[in-house]
Amino acid sequence: MTTQIPRPTVTRFAPSPNGRLHIGHAFAAIIAHDIANNDPDGQFLLRIEDIDGPRSRPEFADEFRRDLEWLGLEWIEVEQQSKRIESYQRAIEALQQQETIYPCACTRAEIEALPKRQTEDRRSYPGSCKGQCVARVSSAEIPVAWRLDIDRAMSEVGEIVWTDEFAGSITADPREFGDVVLVRKDLPASYHLAVTLDDAADGVTLVTRGQDLYDTTAIHRILQELLGLSVPHWLHHKLLLDETGEKLAKRRGSPPLAERRLRGDDGLMLAEQLRLQKIATGT
Ligand code: GLU
Repeated sequence: MTTQIPRPTVTRFAPSPNGRLHIGHAFAAIIAHDIANNDPDGQFLLRIEDIDGPRSRPEFADEFRRDLEWLGLEWIEVEQQSKRIESYQRAIEALQQQETIYPCACTRAEIEALPKRQTEDRRSYPGSCKGQCVARVSSAEIPVAWRLDIDRAMSEVGEIVWTDEFAGSITADPREFGDVVLVRKDLPASYHLAVTLDDAADGVTLVTRGQDLYDTTAIHRILQELLGLSVPHWLHHKLLLDETGEKLAKRRGSPPLAERRLRGDDGLMLAEQLRLQKIATGT
């Protein structure tokens, strides 16, 4: 670890109940659990991130709790995301008032047909409809997403700095992401908005999660600045790979923890084996 973790150490495991947990999730949960438990005043939270419409299923959330118990973990469960919609709406209103978000009614096909910026190829959406969809939206009942006006937001906020336990102090520029969606057409908040608000509301002081989410932290930091939220530290850990070197993923059919549990495998032993893995990236 390179930095002083803010005390008390409050970590969280925040699975989305749209599929079953695999061993990579067990690794992530154990890391968050053990770091919190290292601090006598620490807390390990479980937050079910269930705002993914019909893809979120309560039976998966029930299974997650049984899986974590089987691994020998203890946690405090905080409110699931589907019960926090009002807090997302309040944040959206604040961002609307600041004019740091704007409505976008573009369809996927329309966005794909847009000319891409040459130099910033990570921008999947170049912001070309900014200011134009407003008329479209008010003239008809059409589904609308809300996008962060990243250039405007950055001019409000200035420099974005955050602290990662392994990478140290990072100065990031979220402009490379372009105008990300904060409210999806079909959902009350995007991952970026919901996770940032919830981590602040839950008093999380150390966000632990996989290295694949490292870059998105810059977006979360800008939202914290715009909304006046507390700023935790982050720890982005190594991802476990399958035998072919691919990242484990629910959609690729990595064997679910529940399958092992139900066939009588020893969850405590599995947890001990996972504790032997290095968590720092690049090791
Ligand atoms: N619900 C998100 C996921 O399952 C959480 C990601 C995070 O830890 O920030 O990927």
